[in-house]
Amino acid sequence: MAESPMSPIAPLPWPAILDDDQRALYDRARRITAEVLAPIADTGQPGRVNRPLLRALATEDLLPYLFPKDYGGRQPERVRATDLCLLRDAIATESTEAETALAMQGLGSYPILESGSPELVERWIPEVAAGRAVAGFALSEAAAGSDVVAMETTAERDGDGYRLSGEKLWISNAPEADVYSVFARTAPGEGSRGITAFAVPGDSPGLGGDWTELLAHHPIGSLTLDGVFVPEGNLLGEPGHGMRVALKTLSRFRPSVGAFAVGMGQAAFELANRHVDERQAFGGSLRNLQVVSHKLADMAMRLHSARLAVYDAAAAFDRGDDRLTFRSSAAKALATETAQSIVDDAVQLHGARALVAGHPLELLYREVRAPRIYEGATDVQLEIIARELTG
Ligand SMILES: Cc1cc2nc3c(=O)[nH]c(=O)nc-3n(C[C@H](O)[C@H](O)[C@H](O)COP(=O)(O)OP(=O)(O)OC[C@H]3O[C@@H](n4cnc5c(N)ncnc54)[C@H](O)[C@@H]3O)c2cc1C
Repeated sequence: MAESPMSPIAPLPWPAILDDDQRALYDRARRITAEVLAPIADTGQPGRVNRPLLRALATEDLLPYLFPKDYGGRQPERVRATDLCLLRDAIATESTEAETALAMQGLGSYPILESGSPELVERWIPEVAAGRAVAGFALSEAAAGSDVVAMETTAERDGDGYRLSGEKLWISNAPEADVYSVFARTAPGEGSRGITAFAVPGDSPGLGGDWTELLAHHPIGSLTLDGVFVPEGNLLGEPGHGMRVALKTLSRFRPSVGAFAVGMGQAAFELANRHVDERQAFGGSLRNLQVVSHKLADMAMRLHSARLAVYDAAAAFDRGDDRLTFRSSAAKALATETAQSIVDDAVQLHGARALVAGHPLELLYREVRAPRIYEGATDVQLEIIARELTG
């Protein structure tokens, strides 16, 4: 797609909805990731927080795009969904690890930025924007994944604060994060209205956890809360408004999960598009086989339409347009499903060599699976879209 040095062949059309400045941000993020961030990502321990990578994301002036100027960032206020998508799309094409590091800083800290007291925001956001503090978003539990309202972690009143007890699972950056946005039940039996959000420092007494190894390397683990005391000043929003706090962040980030997927699809497409010229068989290149060239055409068409859906949803979010729910769910589901199939097609076109451990497509094949599940599984997005078709 880009006419940048990383992808000299077969540029796909750039979405017409985006302007030259946005194109420049995409190109810059891609170039910096290839030249600076990917080598740093390679030096980290797979599946663990890579602090030098986070610092580099900040010093290379990418992470600050997620945060307001007043707190060490680049945005007038909140991150525009379109900027978030441009960064995730571009960075993912060159390094999924750098992409995840950037995105999780935003997901983990936005509840603090949007719903924390001025003191909490001042304490944490400049550090997170500078890549010095690592953030985590602690919502999921064993019995509360898609059905988050079933959460069992409790927060009981204790003097001038709360005591949190329970276990969170699948928490990106846990157990190493420096601060978590934690969601816990303050009112039993009150469903979504009984959940409250808290900022919990990673060094709080009673907080523990373990790393979890996934199919693809992703810094993720469990978080145990054993009577963790959290002062009242660490409340995020009003008591009982925790789901509102969570959904505010998740709705800003939803189109950008699609952008992450599109970036991985782009990487796979570029590898395949190059490989079919290099690979000789039956007296010519693979591209000469019509079935191969048509498969590439189909991959290009699907990748392009997924990208359009992502930037349409992001632009709608930034403008406050209508049908946002439909657009965001469609973008997330379409892009993550499309990326999976494009990576699979690219593997097919490469043959056995793509399955060798460490091949870029072998890594993408494992990496592309998770976004179809987290932040609202595809099936859940279909359920949401189905509801949007009536009334
Ligand atoms: C790489 C990764 C990173 C993650 N990071 C975080 C994080 O930072 N913070 C955090 O809190 N969580 C995180 N999660 C957890 C993630 O949000 C959950 O995995 C997700 O919400 C799904 O929950 P579950 O895995 O328990 O699946 P379940 O809720 O058990 O769902 C399993 C399947 O059931 C079907 N299903 C369930 N409900 C419905 C429905 N209503 N309609 C239709 N079909 C349905 C779908 O096919 C779904 O995939 C992460 C997960 C992964 C894989």
